[in-house]
Amino acid sequence: MMSNSSDKNESTTPYLSIIVPFLNESENLAKCHHALLQVLDKLPHHSEIVYIDDGSTDDSWLVACSLHSGRHSLRVIRLSRNFGKECALSAGLLKASGSAVIPFDADLQDPPECIFQMVEEWESGYDIIEMQRTERLGETFCKKLSAKLFYKTLSALSDSDINENVGDFRLLDRKVVQVINSMPERNRFMKGLLSWPGFKRKVLTFQRAPRHAGTSKWNYFKLFKLAFEGITSFSTKPLRLATFAGVTTSLIAFIYSIIVLTKTVIWGDPVAGYPSLLIVVLLIGGVQLLSIGLLGEYVGRLFIESKQRPLYVVMEEIFKESKDSPQAN
Ligand code: UDP
Ligand code: MG
Repeated sequence: MMSNSSDKNESTTPYLSIIVPFLNESENLAKCHHALLQVLDKLPHHSEIVYIDDGSTDDSWLVACSLHSGRHSLRVIRLSRNFGKECALSAGLLKASGSAVIPFDADLQDPPECIFQMVEEWESGYDIIEMQRTERLGETFCKKLSAKLFYKTLSALSDSDINENVGDFRLLDRKVVQVINSMPERNRFMKGLLSWPGFKRKVLTFQRAPRHAGTSKWNYFKLFKLAFEGITSFSTKPLRLATFAGVTTSLIAFIYSIIVLTKTVIWGDPVAGYPSLLIVVLLIGGVQLLSIGLLGEYVGRLFIESKQRPLYVVMEEIFKESKDSPQAN
C-alpha cells in the first residue's frame, strides 16, 4: 500500500478520524481526549477527532467544546436530541474526513493503544481491522450470557458475515466508509452495516476494560430491541421460519384429522376429544399470532423506511483547526 501512504503525505486530509459518540459522559470526556491525543501525537501525520453529543443532559457538551485540538483538528457536533448511539455514529461517519476512521467509546472501554496495531495492519493493506474482545471485564454473567446468545442467533439467522464479540471499535478505510455512508436505511444496526461492505478484513484481539466512570447507557430492554433489530434488518430468515412452522402445523393437523376421522367412522366416539381440541386450537392460534407479529415487524420496518426521515438532526457544530498547518505534515 505504498501509493496509499504517499497520498496521505501529500493531501491535507487527516490521517485518522476518531469518532466518539457520547451521551452524558462529562466524567470521561477529558480523560478520553487526553488518552486519544497521546496516541495520535505519536502518529506521523495530523489526525482528526469527531465528538458527537447524542443529546446529553449533563454538561458534556461544554466539556467537549472546551477540549483543545493540539496538532490535530477537532470537530464537535451536537445532535438536537438523543437519537441513539447508532445514529450518532452514522453522523460521525458522514462528518469524518480522515483516510481511515475509528469509532471509539468515550468511556475508555476500548484501549486507545490498540490504535497503533490497527494502523500498522491498515498500512500493510487491510481495509477493515476488527477488534475482537477476548474478555469482558466488569460485565455481569447475565450480560455475557445474553451477548453470547445474541451472536449465536445472529450468525444462525443472518446472511452477512458478522464476527462474534466485535463491537464498533474497528478501523475502517475511507473506501469502506464511503460504502457505509451510501447505505440509506433508517435501521442503523451498526455491527451489520459495518460488516456488510466486505473488503479485506483482519481480526485482532484485545481485552475490553471496565468503564472508566459512569454507568452503561444500555439496559436489557434497549439491548433486546437492538438484537431484534439486528436480526430482522439483516435477514428474512425469521419469515421463512414462520412459513416452516405453518407448514409443519398444517401437516400435523392433516395427519391428526385423518386419525380422528378414522376413529369416528370405525368406533363412533361421539364426545371424547376435548383436550386434544383445545391443544390444537391453542397451538394453531399461537403459531398464527407469532407469524402475524413477525410479519408486522417487517411491515413496520418498511413503514419506517418509506418515511425517509433524516437519521439525526444537527443542532450545533464546532470546528477547531489543527495547530500545525496541514501542508507541514
Ligand atoms: N452512547 C451514545 N448514545 C446512546 C447511548 C450510548 O452516544 O444513546 C455512547 C456512550 O456515551 C458511549 C458509547 O456510546 O460513549 C458506548 O455506550 P456504553 O458504554 O453505554 O455501552 P456499552 O459499552 O455498555 O456497550
Ligand atoms: Mg461502554
